[in-house]
Amino acid sequence: MKNQPSSKDIDKLKAIVEKKQPLIWDVIDSKEKKQVFEFCEEYRSFLSEVKTEREAVDYIIMQAEQHGFVNIDSSIPSERYYKIYKNKSVALWVKGSEPSDKGMRIIGSHMDSPRLDLKQNPLYEEVDLSLMKTHYYGGIKKYHWLARPLALHGVVILKNGLRLPLVIGEKDTDPVFCISDLLPHLAKSQAGKKLSEAFDGEKLNILVGSIPLGDSKIKERFKLAILKHLHDQYDMTEEDLVSSEFELVPSGPARDLGFDRSLIGGYGQDDRACVFTSLKAILETKNPVRDSLCLFFDKEEIGSEGNTGAKSKFFEDFISDVMEAQGTPSSERMLRKSLLNSSMLSGDVNAGIEPDYQDVHEKRNAAKLGYGICVTKFTGTGGKSGSSDASAEFMGMIRSIFNDNNIQWQTGELGKIDQGGGGTIAKFLAVYGMDIIDCGPALLSMHSPFEISSKADIYMTYKAYKAFYLA
Ligand code: MN
Ligand code: MN
Repeated sequence: MKNQPSSKDIDKLKAIVEKKQPLIWDVIDSKEKKQVFEFCEEYRSFLSEVKTEREAVDYIIMQAEQHGFVNIDSSIPSERYYKIYKNKSVALWVKGSEPSDKGMRIIGSHMDSPRLDLKQNPLYEEVDLSLMKTHYYGGIKKYHWLARPLALHGVVILKNGLRLPLVIGEKDTDPVFCISDLLPHLAKSQAGKKLSEAFDGEKLNILVGSIPLGDSKIKERFKLAILKHLHDQYDMTEEDLVSSEFELVPSGPARDLGFDRSLIGGYGQDDRACVFTSLKAILETKNPVRDSLCLFFDKEEIGSEGNTGAKSKFFEDFISDVMEAQGTPSSERMLRKSLLNSSMLSGDVNAGIEPDYQDVHEKRNAAKLGYGICVTKFTGTGGKSGSSDASAEFMGMIRSIFNDNNIQWQTGELGKIDQGGGGTIAKFLAVYGMDIIDCGPALLSMHSPFEISSKADIYMTYKAYKAFYLA
């Protein structure tokens, strides 16, 4: 055929018009590869150490104070402030060169993860064993939690008002807890059930002891033995458990995964991957143009409800306090203006294509491990219902920030249409009129006790968040 472009011309054209989607490992040099692995050493320790929202708050404040952030309630003049709310939410702020009403750069993530909460009246005995009842929190596959070592993390408020934090089951010398599972030999009727019916929420009870107190004439002596232990060790009574928040989480540290150590396996990466990377980004943010705000929420896994979730308005008060501390009049109008003019990344994870379940994804629009931070324009279910759908204009702005700063990024969609779906905090912040988009690493085995991330994606997420604050 005549007038056809040469293969050289076609290559030239392809370089211009085709979307590039490089694998991070193919494009980073050895220096950056080293940075990826170094960064993830700290990330892995963080995951091993921080397993609840309360522990995340403690970690964030410790880091923030080391990096010169000051408690806003202290009345000390500063250009870096933090606020803790109910020990379960945190906000960090860095002053920008532009006035606050020009809008802030905000990144928000959530510190809570799916788990089992101890019930308020947990302790009982059955067949000469002591057990405690739990109530699962967030979306779990119940069978993931059976027959595996669990650790207890949380706090109890004692009768005298004393607040006692406890972690049992993480040290090598600690005991652990466990939900026993039915042996396969006797699971015939269970095996015939639908998966959604085979595991009963009221059967997620942990074993906590088996030595009784006193002789067989004593009523409930197995339960009594545990109550005595709690009293002897912690001065705790059965009623004290009513004012406790104990969470059962997978025991043990996060681990490097694979012969090449390129992946990380560990509990709670949804969404502490974004907690860690956004915290790192704001700690290192100095003299930004816009005010930088980093929000860490609780309760995302149950719909962002309650006074510590993203539906709570506690951070509005923090912003007002910050404005006042800067000598800006903090009227309702100024606060609205600042929020309206802000742009925000909702830092949350997305699902990477599962190698053995590829059919639940639409592969042209699903995220893959190793291809960088995943930008999710919309979430929701069935026709984008319940989603905050970011605008083309904002997507354009984020794309150019990432491209200008050499960030590897990809787009993602949570599963095939009508396969399921999910939401994030994005829609609750979008009510202020600010631009907002979901943005974080992709995971495998999301919401399992051992979630999997790519070290390259974790590092790219951190780089992307930092670029966003400084752009
Ligand atoms: Mn999440
Ligand atoms: Mn989640």
